[in-house]
Amino acid sequence: MVSHTGARAWTWTLLAGVTLLTSCSPDSSGIRRLPLEPDAVAAVITLSPSATSLGFIGQTVQLTAQLVAGDGSPATGVSFHWTTTNPAVAAVTARGMVQAVSEGTAEILVRTVNIVGTAQITVKRVPATVTLSEEEFLFTELQQSQTVSATILDGGGQGLPSSDIVWSVANAAIATVGSDGVVTSIGQGRTTVTGTAGAVQAFLTVRVATGAADIEVAPSTLAMDALGDTVTIGGTVVDAAGAALSAVVVTFLGEDTLVATVDSVTGLVTAIGVGVTTVTVIGDTVQKAVPVTVTQTPATVVVTPALATLIPGAQLTFTAAAEDRNANPIASPSITWSSADVAVATITGAGTATAVAAGATVIVATAGAAADTANVTVVVVAVDSVDVSPDSLTLIVGGTDIVSARFFDDQGTEILGPTATWVSTDTDVATVTSTGVVAGVGPGTAWIRGTEDNGADSTYVTVITVSLFDIEVRFVGTLPSASVQTAFSDAELRWEELLIGDLPAAAVTLTAAECVTVAHPAVAETIDDVVIFAEVTAIDGSGGILGQAGPCVVRSTGGLALVGVMQFDEADLSDLETTSDLVETIIHEMGHVLGLGASTPWTTTLVDAGGADPYWPGTEAVTQYDLNGGNSTNKVPVANTGGMGTADAHWRESHMGRELMTGFINIGSVNPLSAITVGAMKDMGYAVDLSKADAYTVSATLRISPDRLFRLRKLPVPPPMRVDARGRVVR
Ligand SMILES: [Zn+2]
Repeated sequence: MVSHTGARAWTWTLLAGVTLLTSCSPDSSGIRRLPLEPDAVAAVITLSPSATSLGFIGQTVQLTAQLVAGDGSPATGVSFHWTTTNPAVAAVTARGMVQAVSEGTAEILVRTVNIVGTAQITVKRVPATVTLSEEEFLFTELQQSQTVSATILDGGGQGLPSSDIVWSVANAAIATVGSDGVVTSIGQGRTTVTGTAGAVQAFLTVRVATGAADIEVAPSTLAMDALGDTVTIGGTVVDAAGAALSAVVVTFLGEDTLVATVDSVTGLVTAIGVGVTTVTVIGDTVQKAVPVTVTQTPATVVVTPALATLIPGAQLTFTAAAEDRNANPIASPSITWSSADVAVATITGAGTATAVAAGATVIVATAGAAADTANVTVVVVAVDSVDVSPDSLTLIVGGTDIVSARFFDDQGTEILGPTATWVSTDTDVATVTSTGVVAGVGPGTAWIRGTEDNGADSTYVTVITVSLFDIEVRFVGTLPSASVQTAFSDAELRWEELLIGDLPAAAVTLTAAECVTVAHPAVAETIDDVVIFAEVTAIDGSGGILGQAGPCVVRSTGGLALVGVMQFDEADLSDLETTSDLVETIIHEMGHVLGLGASTPWTTTLVDAGGADPYWPGTEAVTQYDLNGGNSTNKVPVANTGGMGTADAHWRESHMGRELMTGFINIGSVNPLSAITVGAMKDMGYAVDLSKADAYTVSATLRISPDRLFRLRKLPVPPPMRVDARGRVVR
């Protein structure tokens, strides 16, 4: 071949050759095909695409023809002639645009001069879209059927037979589908029916839900880190298909109300005490438990005392009270102690500082992220005066009590750290230990003297042989059973060994049944020390109101009871006899008559009554609280929940658990009558024998699961009547 540089010249050469070819022998198509030169390769037409399927009538495809010379080089400027072998199936334009006419096959031919190219065309309508008559079926019963149908269109929007659809279901345990599109509910849940037509699909959601299947709760667990915090739990009942059943009312049930309470309607959870409980969210036939954990994160710490002056060698134990961010005291907080200058004073992990040498240091108490400090000054100074308390004591033979001393320098400034040296003026009457524990030895009187350096002070001790306090129980109405009478007698004796001093006798005049609802007889007598009218009667059957008790007439001086009433529901008493809790219950209610939770000295001394943190500040009760495991905050916590008759009238259950004068009796357990309660009686004006109190350690957090609790209450009565020395009621 010659080479050419211009397209025009090349075309001319090729066409000359083609002309030559036409003179050679014809093939079967009548076109002669001979090589131009003996070793030349014939020119060809390539068609693109060479085979095409058209999916709908009217669909077009542009074919492109290319003439390629024998040496493989493409030719341009060539004129092509397009024809179809089957114009009823596929038409073609003069520029190679093919269009489907009807289903079938055709061949498109393209020629230039005597060279032919072919392309295969198949016209077959295929599904381009499928739509279903329904998007979702909801079955509310099993074995129900509904029919879904499909519309199938080709790319030209022309319908194809709906019988071309193939049905399938994702989960045949929930629903089945027939070839006719009939969907039948089989089991609870949600699944998908798929209609497939060729390469396209459509979907139908099937839900089978015959009622409440689950309840969704949020949050699913609760962790609260301060008492008084509130969180609202939400609950939604859903069917098996996950759809909310908004018409179903959801209720909330608490468990341990000493840890958290819950509003049964709103789901509002309030943290009450440290512990773990659950709230059960209930709707129709389904429920779910939400674990609730209440802790107290320290927000504030207060160290007591804030200032201390010590002499070298003296020890002083600091206390630290922690509160959560809602100002609720934290029982037994974990405190870390340190001293800024251990050359002046050291401090133990328990908060006991030891003065080392003259100087000043800072004691730091840390609880979590909170901290407080106390300033300690160590000086070399002598004690100039001593103040011993109490000023006087009454002890029964064998009984014990404690005396304590405070120390002051010659400027009247208190010195912390020294310890007194104790002596008794008559050890046949009373002895005293080096730590100030006084014991009654024999009847008589003695002085207990505490000295240190240049100071001295004394307590006057009276020792008696038998309790001088007399409680008289008088039954009114139907006489209770012998065993119940014995229980009252046991309770009376218990209090008579705890309260040992005589109180002044007083004349009392009462008309019959003047004390609230108890049908006692008229009274016109001198009472020494207290008369209790007790009535066992039918109130409201087992459970509900157990009974009530309180003082009715009190002394005009000191406010302690002269006449009290106790009323019990006979049905509850028989229950309590069965569980051996009867005597403890009567002792508890008698404690109210004697003033705990229900007397003038109680109400006038109680701090923050009706508030969030009511407490008893009485010296002896606080001392006993701290001696028996309490947290030294100068408070004995009083019930702040439980409503009228419980709040402000009992020790706080969340701090003192099983103690008998909390608002609940722990059925089947020992409920100790502690030295804290006896100490409170002393604070209210009774002479007491603390050594007769039951062993008890302040503890509420040890409870793992709630006991069966029985709510006890004091008498919800107006303030008691007062009588003067002549027996006149002075109200
Ligand atoms: Zn009570």
